[in-house]
Amino acid sequence: MDYEDMLGDAYGKVKQIDVASERFEIPKIEGHFEGKKTILTNFFAIAMHIRRNPEHFQKFILKEVAASGHKDGDRLVLNMKVPRTKINPKIEQYVKEFVLCKECGKPDTEIVKEDRLSFLHCLACGAKHSVRSKI
Ligand SMILES: [Zn+2]
Repeated sequence: MDYEDMLGDAYGKVKQIDVASERFEIPKIEGHFEGKKTILTNFFAIAMHIRRNPEHFQKFILKEVAASGHKDGDRLVLNMKVPRTKINPKIEQYVKEFVLCKECGKPDTEIVKEDRLSFLHCLACGAKHSVRSKI
């Protein structure tokens, strides 16, 4: 193995560790049923954590689980019973589509609008990818 290969090898290892330690944990929903309703207690805390517009996040999740709902203080109330196991994959889907950079996988992103198009702009690596503007 020559020097270049060794460098490449070491770099590969360092990079791998980096990615693992900085891996973004997708938050899990917390809540309970109240009669026929579902009370999600940390929904807006998650929106803050992923730094996305709460209305946008709410609209997406409600549509995906096919429920109607409304904000009640810092809780989101769904007008039907929706188990966590059905909500968590949708949060994951949202984060993958609207939060994580498709280039470097980091969550340090912002959604920017240009004309009628929306882009996910990464503050870590500068990548820009188009995202759906209508959800
Ligand atoms: Zn990036």
